[in-house]
Amino acid sequence: MSRSASLAVPVIKSRSLQDLKHRVNIHDVVARTVSLKKSGGNRFKGLCPFHSEKSPSFHVSADKGFYKCFGCGKAGDILNFVMETEGLQFTEAAEALAKRFGVNLEYEAGTGGPSREERSLRQEIFDIHDVAADYYRQTFLATNPHGDFIRNYWTQNRRFTPELADDFKIGFAPPEDSGLAGAVLQKKFSEEALRQCGLFFIRDGAMLTIGGMRPRFRGRLMIPIRDHQSRVVAFTARQLELTPKDDPSHEAKYVNSPETPIFTKSHLLFNLDRARTHAGEGHPFVLVEGQLDAMRCWSVGLKTAVAPQGTSITDGQLVLMRRYHPQVECFFDSDSAGQKAALRFLPLALRAGLEVRFLMLAGAEKLDPDLLFLERGLAAYEEVKKSSLNAMEFAVRSLLPNAAAAGSEQKSRTAQTLFEIVAQAESDVSRTGFIQDISSHLRIPANALEKDFRTYLARQSGSRFAPAGAPVVAPAPAADARDAHTKGMESHLLFLCLHNDSVLHGLSQHLPHEWIIATSLPGRLLDRILAEVQHNGWTGRESLEQLLETEEEKALAATLLFDSPGEENMAKIANEGLRAMQHRFLEPQLRQIELEIASKGTIGDASLITLLKQRTAITRQLQNPPKLTFES
Ligand code: ZN
Repeated sequence: MSRSASLAVPVIKSRSLQDLKHRVNIHDVVARTVSLKKSGGNRFKGLCPFHSEKSPSFHVSADKGFYKCFGCGKAGDILNFVMETEGLQFTEAAEALAKRFGVNLEYEAGTGGPSREERSLRQEIFDIHDVAADYYRQTFLATNPHGDFIRNYWTQNRRFTPELADDFKIGFAPPEDSGLAGAVLQKKFSEEALRQCGLFFIRDGAMLTIGGMRPRFRGRLMIPIRDHQSRVVAFTARQLELTPKDDPSHEAKYVNSPETPIFTKSHLLFNLDRARTHAGEGHPFVLVEGQLDAMRCWSVGLKTAVAPQGTSITDGQLVLMRRYHPQVECFFDSDSAGQKAALRFLPLALRAGLEVRFLMLAGAEKLDPDLLFLERGLAAYEEVKKSSLNAMEFAVRSLLPNAAAAGSEQKSRTAQTLFEIVAQAESDVSRTGFIQDISSHLRIPANALEKDFRTYLARQSGSRFAPAGAPVVAPAPAADARDAHTKGMESHLLFLCLHNDSVLHGLSQHLPHEWIIATSLPGRLLDRILAEVQHNGWTGRESLEQLLETEEEKALAATLLFDSPGEENMAKIANEGLRAMQHRFLEPQLRQIELEIASKGTIGDASLITLLKQRTAITRQLQNPPKLTFES
């Protein structure tokens, strides 16, 4: 999706932002989300909202206006806090804070758009979705033949209750109608917002009239999709008998809203907004395949069910889930496609730090949560929970169904595949646990397996930082899920810099500019940020805003900021990256020198001596790579 670059984004005056930061006490902002206790002076601490912990390592300094978590390293000011905890963009966060604390904001002249009550484009699109959700809901409830049809479909075909429809604000898009266009036109939204909201097909250059705005969804059951803050950001539309034949995606059972400024599929889980308030002691998240499955779970009292938006689950969705609860139980189809999906899912989940169990029904050929819960209610959940498998048990069973009868060759091949999965887990404690699990399920002695795993890791080290496209011994199964931009060393280091000030300052001293491949997007950004630090222009996160020049760069920074670092040692990872970049830079030079040395014949040749000296110098550098020394 390309967003128009000329789009007028309201820019708040920097003086106004400074004023906001001075007038709003960070304690009051954070205390809405985190229960804070005084810890001397004007400092407070509490349980970190960004990672799961039992003893508080999240510190707030009211004097400095900053928070920092010593567990996960997250740090920032009031704006970062609101952006991260409420999922808002920078300007929206500033506007939300200003409103909450009664501070007036001033905008740079000419940037407020046509100054529609200072509503940002995203806010307008949120508002359009509210209007649409209401509209679809009213048509669902209407006393007319269409209303009768859809309510009958809901209760008879889907076998859901009217109360559930009310709960989820289920709606109906009539087959032919201009009602929605009329409703939004009445509210005087901007043309930009109407064109970008994804609810209409509007021809380029067409007038924004009821006739010129063709509804995207016609003759379908409408399921509102909410973000983790319960704002409607999109719809999933289920095909019905009434779906018109001239609907461009008539054949599709489910049609989703396109991606818009407020809707990114890969960062959204259906029902997370409600499920997260029910996830807690003894109530892990339950991951199901579709929205209707999730609603079925809800209807029988299993309130922690979430569903990915679209077919496959992404890193972003898992990180979001991890933010609220560390455990997830998965319902995947027991057919081979479902098993493959589950095996693809597992390494992503481990990387996100989630503890996974797979729900199984003993003896069942196919597990359909919708049908299962419809017929047997919550009791069915207790039953599948009883025969559920932990991560490694499940993986061993899928890869080698008859482990007891397998030969050692087969077992060792399976172990190698499992190592790829286990290596994704960040903590050594969980890795050790997984290796023990594998040992008991594959029936290989634990010490032998541990040794093999260490060998595997040694072989892999470096490949984590392999440049994109370089041959890797065994591609991690999760690799394809990563966006191309987030591959490679520059991206890894940029990620660390954005999350850890010590790494940022360390790299600004130890990472030479010429080692960075600045033609890639992450490389360019890394180079620019490190230069800013070197020139003392970096004053923290707010400097980042000013360094981001394009939408692409903003998106990359947001993606990297969105991912939270694991409990790993940042200095160690940064050093691995440094070493790998040094190699990438120096190895070709070394090879060139060696070629030249080989082509020289006589000993005592002055140029040969120079070459040998150069070789020694480079070899020495490679043996003593630069190193960041702080502890993290
Ligand atoms: Zn934390």
